[in-house]
Amino acid sequence: MTKILFVGPQGSGKSTQARLLAQFLHLPYISTGDIFRRLRQENSEEGRAIKQILDSGELVDDQITAELVKKGLKDIDVQNGFIMDGYPRTLEQIKFFDPGFDKVFYLKLSDEEALKRLLKRGREDDTEDLIAERLRIYHEQTDPILDFYQKKGTLITIDGEGIIEQIQDRIRRVIGGQE
Ligand code: AMP
Repeated sequence: MTKILFVGPQGSGKSTQARLLAQFLHLPYISTGDIFRRLRQENSEEGRAIKQILDSGELVDDQITAELVKKGLKDIDVQNGFIMDGYPRTLEQIKFFDPGFDKVFYLKLSDEEALKRLLKRGREDDTEDLIAERLRIYHEQTDPILDFYQKKGTLITIDGEGIIEQIQDRIRRVIGGQE
């Protein structure tokens, strides 16, 4: 059973890397961003509330998020483990529900490089102001979980600069070296 988490700022390619590793290891992939983007489409009170939060670049409530993750993990086959993308994002979320990761891959990228990549992507919600706001929230809320996993000895920092294949190689080298 291998439980792996991916953490990194927007633009670090964490979803791409997590998906590729999931394919390689034949493990299920679960992403809170995907869960919320699905909910956002729903024409319900919950859907509208989530849309507002996502569009502002803020984080969804910790307890709601933790419950959704628990439910999401029940719905998939996690017998051999799983690759998680995007949960936990705050220390508080770990208190609500801690999946107990064996490895935490942190894709490290400078704010300047993240900004450059996201502006190039040119999505409607990728204005310079919104990107800067999301990076600010990321540092404020998510940086502390890096210390948490560092102290636990599960944090593996990966250089997030370079092309997709190079970064995936760096990750697989770590996996290969440990197993
Ligand atoms: P992502 O695709 O991981 O960047 O997530 C997209 C959006 O979903 C984030 O900007 C948050 O609004 C929300 N989200 C994803 N994961 C979490 C989480 N663990 N806690 C709170 N909000 C989250």
